[in-house]
Amino acid sequence: MENNYEIVDFDDFADIYIINTCTVTNMSDKKSRQIIRRAKHKNKNAILVVVGCYAQIAKEKLEKIKEIDMVLGNNEKGNIVECVENYSKMLITDVMNQKEFVEFGSTTYTDKTRAVIKVQDGCDRFCSYCVIPYARGRVRSRKIKNVVEEISCIAKNGIKEVVITGIHIASFGKDFKDGTSLIDLLEEINKIEGIERIRLGSIEPTIITKEFLERLTKLEKICDHFHLSLQSGCDETLKRMNRKYTTLEFENIVNLLRNAYPEVALTTDIIVGFPGETEEEFNKTYEFLSKIKFMKMHIFKYSKRDGTKAALMENQIDGNIKEERSNMLIELSDKNEKEFMEKYIGKNTKVLFEQSNKDYTEGHTKNYILVKVPKNSDLENQIENVKVLKLNELALEGEIN
Ligand code: SF4
Repeated sequence: MENNYEIVDFDDFADIYIINTCTVTNMSDKKSRQIIRRAKHKNKNAILVVVGCYAQIAKEKLEKIKEIDMVLGNNEKGNIVECVENYSKMLITDVMNQKEFVEFGSTTYTDKTRAVIKVQDGCDRFCSYCVIPYARGRVRSRKIKNVVEEISCIAKNGIKEVVITGIHIASFGKDFKDGTSLIDLLEEINKIEGIERIRLGSIEPTIITKEFLERLTKLEKICDHFHLSLQSGCDETLKRMNRKYTTLEFENIVNLLRNAYPEVALTTDIIVGFPGETEEEFNKTYEFLSKIKFMKMHIFKYSKRDGTKAALMENQIDGNIKEERSNMLIELSDKNEKEFMEKYIGKNTKVLFEQSNKDYTEGHTKNYILVKVPKNSDLENQIENVKVLKLNELALEGEIN
C-alpha cells in the first residue's frame, strides 16, 4: 500500500485501471485498444487511465474511445497519482522538447534476482520504419549518480543481476555533452557491492569498437550476452531503413565480440518484408544470417506505422510473402539456438537460480541460457555450478556440481 493505493492484478476488480501502451507496431496499437475495452468491462465505474507511447502519439484516436477517462503522455507517467487525484482528462506534454531524463522515483521492475534499470530515454536515430522517436523524444540520459544510488539500494535488498535498458542505450551520455558515454556508467555499476551480473539490453551495434571492448572486458560482471539489433542482412535494405552500418561493419563487430568473449551469445531482431525487399534482398539477408549464426533471432514482419518514411515507400510487401520469410528465419533461429545449447552438454556452467516450479529450480547462465535442475528452493538467488546433462525443449537440464 502506497499513498493509500494498493496495486492489484490487472484481471482483478479495481477502482482505477492504468494501461501502459506500446506503439511499436500496428499490432501493439490494436492490443492496447482491446485491453482498454476489456478493463472497462470489469468495472464500468472504474477510472480508466491510458498512458505511454500510443497515448503520446494517438490522442485524437483515443479521445474517440468512450471508455477512456484519462490520457497521459510519457512525461506524465511518473505523476499518475497526482493526475488521477486532480482529474486531468488529457495531459500530454511535447516529448520532442523534453531535455532531461524524468526520474520516476523508481524505474525498475524487480523480481527476487534480477532488476531492469532504465538509464536513458528517447532516440535521435529516426530509422525509417520506427515511430519511437516521435513517441519518446530526443535522447535524455539519467545521471550516473542516480543510477548508482538506485542499484546500490536494490543490491542491499539481495538483487544480484541488473539489466541496463533504455530506448537507445548506446546514446547514453550524449545529451550531457561532456564526453560521458555508456562505458563510464557501466564502470561505475561494476563497482557496486552485491551486484554479480550486469546484462545489457538491446544495443546499437556500432557502439562496439576496439576501445569500447578494451574497457568493457575489464568489467568482470558484464554478461557475455549481447542483443545487437541488426534488422536486415542486406545493405540495400539497411540503407532504406536508415540504419547506420553495413553488413561488413556488422560482421567485424561480431568478430570483435567473439574474440573478446569466447562463449558469447549474440541475439538480434530482424524485420522481414520491409518495403521493396525483393527476393534477392531477402536471400542476401538469409545468407548473412546463416553465416553470422546468432544464438537467437526475434523475427518481426514489417508493420506500417503512420508518420514514418517507410509507410510512404513504394512496393509494400504482401502479407503472405512476409509470413513465408518470417517462417524461414524462425526455422533458422531455432536450429542455431539448438546447436548453440547442445555445445554445453557434458560441461560445467555457472547458473544464477531465479525460481522454482513444480519439478525444477531454474535460472540462467551468464550468457542467458535457461538451465533447470531438480527442484531445490534453497538454490534461489544463488550462483551455483551445474553439470549439464541434456537439452530438453530449449532448456538445459543438469545437476549441481
Ligand atoms: S534506433 Fe531503435 S528506437 Fe531509434 S529509431 Fe531506430 S529502431 Fe527506433
